[in-house]
Amino acid sequence: MKVISILGSTGSIGVQALEIVRLHPDLFKVASLAAGSNTRLLEQQIREFKPTLVSCVDSKTADELKRRLRDYSPPLRIEHSIEGTIRAATIPDAQLVVAGLPGSTGLIPTFSAVEAGKDVALATKEVLVMAGGLFMERARKKGVQLLPVDSEQSAIFQCLQGSGEAEIRRIILTASGGPFLDLPSAALADVTRDQALNHPRWKMGPKVTIDSATLMNKGFEVIEARWLFDVPGTKIEVVIHPQSIVHSMVEFADGSILSQLGPTDMRLPISYALAFPRRIESGAAPVSFPKIGSLTFMSPDYDRFPLLQAAFSVLEQEGTGPAIVLNAADEVAVELFLQGKIPFSKIAWIVQESLQSIPSASPGTLEEIMNFHEEIVEQVRSRWAS
Ligand code: MG
Repeated sequence: MKVISILGSTGSIGVQALEIVRLHPDLFKVASLAAGSNTRLLEQQIREFKPTLVSCVDSKTADELKRRLRDYSPPLRIEHSIEGTIRAATIPDAQLVVAGLPGSTGLIPTFSAVEAGKDVALATKEVLVMAGGLFMERARKKGVQLLPVDSEQSAIFQCLQGSGEAEIRRIILTASGGPFLDLPSAALADVTRDQALNHPRWKMGPKVTIDSATLMNKGFEVIEARWLFDVPGTKIEVVIHPQSIVHSMVEFADGSILSQLGPTDMRLPISYALAFPRRIESGAAPVSFPKIGSLTFMSPDYDRFPLLQAAFSVLEQEGTGPAIVLNAADEVAVELFLQGKIPFSKIAWIVQESLQSIPSASPGTLEEIMNFHEEIVEQVRSRWAS
């Protein structure tokens, strides 16, 4: 029986992780849940999975949750805010923490899980994008296992199992290309919020869906892969693969290429991370190759999707600052787009402009990284929000 904690339990990753737990009550037990303000769903999750600790976004939400659970008798502590989330992440019973909090809010709790010696099923991209070097170092020191939940990183991780010390020649990250793969540059400017939120292959939260439409998400995955698998950016290649069946590939020194294929269903990488090294039923429907017919691959158009290029150039630069600027500027730009304050094409524009205009820094500690991030968010917001 593996005891787990889920950070971000009401989000897309958290809900699907709980689906895996529901399929395998003999394998998993939930110790704690952390979520935001969706008390209705959190209440259901508590009644079904009976964690002993939950945390939500603030004291008001915690009070509302307590009201909802007036008739609930099993032992339960209800906490809130970052302190509560950290307690959920470090609860003594848990061996594995699913890190699925959205955005930079996931950084500190995920670090606390590592410091507490928990294995981490990592979905929050910001952890490696903002603090990859530091995070990998802490994970190594603590001897914890990092299990990628992202479909691409999971594919690479799966391809590397049993490869021993084999030299990696190239990591080939596949990208569906998002909803605007074939849209000409001029039309990209007029894309609406609803169009951008309508991803053709994957069902995900709003931030990552918009990031998929700009290919920033793929750029973040390039940075993540650099840290997770300890390869330079020059050994990472992005290939557009609209069918999203090949989830990524690894080319070894001898020219062999291993790939992981599967249905477009996040429950697959989530179940692999939860049960690793076992493979268990994930609930995903089988792939029908005759139905798919062909698998196609092409190079990304870096002119139409400059944020992918921006991620590669960040890896070429010195220090930890540029990746933090990239991430923070994108966080604000996507927020402004979702609020209807800027057109779609302005997202890339704001991020690129921020990379050029904000003087670089090289924050080393977690606190310095968070402070630098907050600073950039403030700057970019005050400049573009009105
Ligand atoms: Mg992905």
